Amino acid sequence: MTVDPRALSLPGIQDPPKTPRRRRMTFAERLYLPLLAGMWVTLRHMLQNLFGLRKRVTIQYPEERRQYSHRYRGHHILTTRPDGSVRCVACFLCATACPAECIHIEAGEQPDVNIEKYPVVYEIDMLRCVFCGYCVDACPEEAIIMSNNYDMAYYSRDQSIVGKADLMKPYTIDPERLGYRPSYPEEDVKRAEMRRQALDLVTAAKARSGATNH
Ligand code: SF4
Ligand code: SF4
Repeated sequence: MTVDPRALSLPGIQDPPKTPRRRRMTFAERLYLPLLAGMWVTLRHMLQNLFGLRKRVTIQYPEERRQYSHRYRGHHILTTRPDGSVRCVACFLCATACPAECIHIEAGEQPDVNIEKYPVVYEIDMLRCVFCGYCVDACPEEAIIMSNNYDMAYYSRDQSIVGKADLMKPYTIDPERLGYRPSYPEEDVKRAEMRRQALDLVTAAKARSGATNH
């Protein structure tokens, strides 16, 4: 059975033209004049940047550094107990939550029965990590947090797999360089103050409405 193509076309919709229509270039386009306009924009930006006629959006990294959010998710830190031992109890929750499957843990037995396990090996493959922070969220011990440190450059693939010793490096525990972590005591204080002020406002409003009703 043959189908008449006209029966399939929708009313009011025309079939596209069978042969493409060539667009005629304007005289200016044939002389490549629009290219000059583009080059003028590039030149103008270059001169403005060169002579400091406007605020630059780029910075001279690494001499200059941007201030990122205090919740920035940078290089991980394995936190320690006061005695210097790693806080991690090798529960594998972080590795399970990790969407990039870039955490490798090998558990060992802790002599302290209250702790039971510790990570003999704890490695993060930084080139696979997507810095989502799920490992920090999953950890029940606050044993893994993230820092503001974004200086991560490696000369080989092996270097990008960061082990326990590097993750526990004291320089990353600098309070000025802490990033994403489960608790922010300074924010808790601010929130408590805001709650108290809100309660004061509600109490004052109730007192006012009570006074007008009497
Ligand atoms: S930040 Fe995300 S991707 Fe990176 S190790 Fe943690 S869970 Fe995995
Ligand atoms: S979730 Fe925390 S305690 Fe558990 S293995 Fe990961 S870092 Fe260690």
